[in-house]
Amino acid sequence: MKKQSDTAKKGYVYIAGAGPGDPELLTLRAERALKGADVIIYDDLVTSAIIDQFSGLKIYTGKRKDSHHFEQDAINEEIARHALEGKTVVRLKGGDPFVFGRGGEEIDVLRKYKIDYEIIPGITAAHGASAYSEIPLTMRKVSSSVAFCTGHPVNKIQVPDADTLVYYMVASSVHEVLDAIVKKGRPEETKAAIVQNATRYNQRVWTGTIGELRRKERAAYSPALLIIGENINQFIENNWFSRKKKVLSGDADPKRYSSREWLVVNFPCRRVEEADRAMLQQCISNVSDYPVLFFPNRFAVKYFFTYLMEFNRDVRHLANCTICTLGRPAATELQKYGIIADLALEPDSPSEIAIALKERNLTGKKVLLPGSNLVDGYLMNELSALGNTVIPLSVYLHGQQEQEENVVWSSSMKFSSLRPPVSKISVRSTERFPRGLRLPLQTAKQKRSTAGYLAKEPEAGDECFMATEQRSVMFS
Ligand code: SAH
Repeated sequence: MKKQSDTAKKGYVYIAGAGPGDPELLTLRAERALKGADVIIYDDLVTSAIIDQFSGLKIYTGKRKDSHHFEQDAINEEIARHALEGKTVVRLKGGDPFVFGRGGEEIDVLRKYKIDYEIIPGITAAHGASAYSEIPLTMRKVSSSVAFCTGHPVNKIQVPDADTLVYYMVASSVHEVLDAIVKKGRPEETKAAIVQNATRYNQRVWTGTIGELRRKERAAYSPALLIIGENINQFIENNWFSRKKKVLSGDADPKRYSSREWLVVNFPCRRVEEADRAMLQQCISNVSDYPVLFFPNRFAVKYFFTYLMEFNRDVRHLANCTICTLGRPAATELQKYGIIADLALEPDSPSEIAIALKERNLTGKKVLLPGSNLVDGYLMNELSALGNTVIPLSVYLHGQQEQEENVVWSSSMKFSSLRPPVSKISVRSTERFPRGLRLPLQTAKQKRSTAGYLAKEPEAGDECFMATEQRSVMFS
């Protein structure tokens, strides 16, 4: 039998499912594991509303198009590395880890290193989509079998002989999947549904027939599921989830809103805390003292330059810095400010970062690392291992990038915050919500409410309330 001390030294890994998006669909067991985690290694599909509740070191390994990501092998090694350091690690994945979640590969690596682990199931997207769109997956006399399939890769699309089919990973292959289904003999009149962002505040459901869907141009945006089968006849437009009124809350106490009626979407309306501003001012005022500037993603670039201007500096003050970027989006963002990165990294594994930096002699240097308020431990380790002194600089709040993307979708959103000071504005056209919240904030400047507080709770028919903290207006 293994001695207790051996186990303790090696740490412990939970491979856990986070569910499809609604933070309340996290299991109690996953929540308990997350509360005790030293390190949380999480995926793209895990929402910030879940992640933000826990205090462990958070490492993002997702495949979001705006940030760099690492390949599965590198992720596996990263999980093992922390566990071998004696840490309690939660590997948190969207939905269920064993449904198209590559959980199987991750435990292979843990077995190889003899690291103890357990697996915590999650609510898979199909179950979330089914419940939140009122489309039962099985139904007496209509559907007595259901199959979970994948639309990716296209050359491996399968059409099992089940009454209800649920396809994952279809955002770019809906048409190929539909072709395969028709080829297998299902009539074009068969019912089809696409559920996008299932269980999230911006869930969208489209229903029709296979034929109609085939004639549509772009049919789905990720994350989305395709459901096929006559059980879709149960769907109603005005289903229980769509009837909920949505409130986007800054720091509001969610308990104020009854969950029967309201869907509270958390949206921190601050950029960085006051404490960080002192640090920001200090780093940016002396930015030419840093021989290396390392941008881990495009948001780091964007917000760093916002502050650079705010503190009366410009690109000329960076003339002596060696500027590095991680991932193509960061390098592209940098070019908007007239700068070509000295070192534009696009590594497949973290170890390649170290190799590239070494080649460029970027060792034993003072490195300024702008990023979110959550320091990327992954990167810090790689940079520090080369003898660099790394100074992390928080230029935006974690999760903001996700919110920024989501807001684009939320054309019928209502906004509110109950925490003073707030500005109240009505935005006529909620359709015009381009990147982030630029539009409403400009409006806020013109029409700042003298009352400062929201006079009443938002109701259906109210256009939009936007909350801002006056001293730290976001995206302005
Ligand atoms: N392990 C996950 C699936 C990961 S594969 C699970 O059990 O749910 C990624 C695919 O899951 C996406 O391409 C999409 O098809 C589906 N998916 C995940 N979350 C979703 C959501 N909230 N709404 C719709 N589809 C989702």
